[in-house]
Amino acid sequence: MSNILKAQVTEVLNQVMDPEQGKSIVELGMIEGLHESEGHVSFAIVVDPQRGATMEPVRKAAEEAVHGLPGVLTVTAVLTAERAAQKPQKAEEGPLLPGVKSIVAVASGKGGVGKSTTSANLALALASQGLEVGLLDADIYGPSMPRMMGITEEPGSSDGVRLDPVEGHGVKCMSIGFFVEEENPIIWRGPMVQSALVQMMRDVNWGELDVLVVDMPPGTGDVQLTMAQQVPLTGAVIVSTPQDIALADARKGLNMFRKVDVPVMGLIENMSYFLCPSCGDRSEIFGHGGAREEADLLGMEFLGEIPLHIEIRETSDGGHPITVSNPEHEHAQVYKKIAGRVWDKAQETLATSKTTKPNIVIQ
Ligand code: ADP
Repeated sequence: MSNILKAQVTEVLNQVMDPEQGKSIVELGMIEGLHESEGHVSFAIVVDPQRGATMEPVRKAAEEAVHGLPGVLTVTAVLTAERAAQKPQKAEEGPLLPGVKSIVAVASGKGGVGKSTTSANLALALASQGLEVGLLDADIYGPSMPRMMGITEEPGSSDGVRLDPVEGHGVKCMSIGFFVEEENPIIWRGPMVQSALVQMMRDVNWGELDVLVVDMPPGTGDVQLTMAQQVPLTGAVIVSTPQDIALADARKGLNMFRKVDVPVMGLIENMSYFLCPSCGDRSEIFGHGGAREEADLLGMEFLGEIPLHIEIRETSDGGHPITVSNPEHEHAQVYKKIAGRVWDKAQETLATSKTTKPNIVIQ
């Protein structure tokens, strides 16, 4: 970050007061991780976790102040309770997600294969079976759950300590997208990724859930590997398109979860074949059967195939995924069938791995 801009940012932030302490947020040493790249500024405001909810106006004021500077295109300020680690508060103690019975990650080798669409529909299909379901949007680089679940409100906090997830179609959701615009790029630095994810688990009132579906960030690199380690996962499903299967993406996903001892429940082939909306004709653009064969080869279960169909796109991008907007539709039935199988496998894993579950330690 250029020194001039940094000085300017610090100067304007020095005008933003913490009303409770009567001093500026700079004076109080609350600004951390100030970063700028090509006009995109990001920083964290370190707050006492108990004051999280009341600090939102200060966060907004800080963002607006920096936004007024020449040359600044976007500003992302996040509230963080990171430093509270030195003096643990209520929300910082205890295990992650104590009331959550099972956690299923939805992963993919790369972006754009329909991982989020699949996560949303699977979560809704699980809820339609009468289960208490949560949906954690861990795709912090491109959070799309608020849009897909049709949620426009921001989460509140009923206890003043933790955030309450926001319900969409009966599923409890949490996403970084509730706090930033989807099209605003977020510049994440390593430690911020970790703390954002941990906050979305530990500092959220998830309550009692049968299953939490986690929409992972795309890719199978180090960040994803660390995330897979941080979340106490029951299992993972891998979403792939037929052409990516040829690129061995499924294999990379499988290896990533194997490294951290997370059982892979299976492979879902998305955009498997094209269903013509006018004539109903089925075109197998990338051939047929490759995913099933690849899954067999890798010792993974093939969970099912979802067609490339305009109604799937329109409903999920419009905030009413097909599983809720048209539950009797044959594609909705495919999601439900896969969800049923995922739920059964989660139960099996929990029954057999009570003693072998990895011990997750968050630093
Ligand atoms: P990812 O999470 O892997 O980046 P998304 O779920 O955001 O992918 O999907 C990318 C785009 O493709 C979205 O516009 C979505 O609506 C669309 N899409 C996903 N799956 C299907 C499908 N089976 N048929 C039609 N469109 C789909």
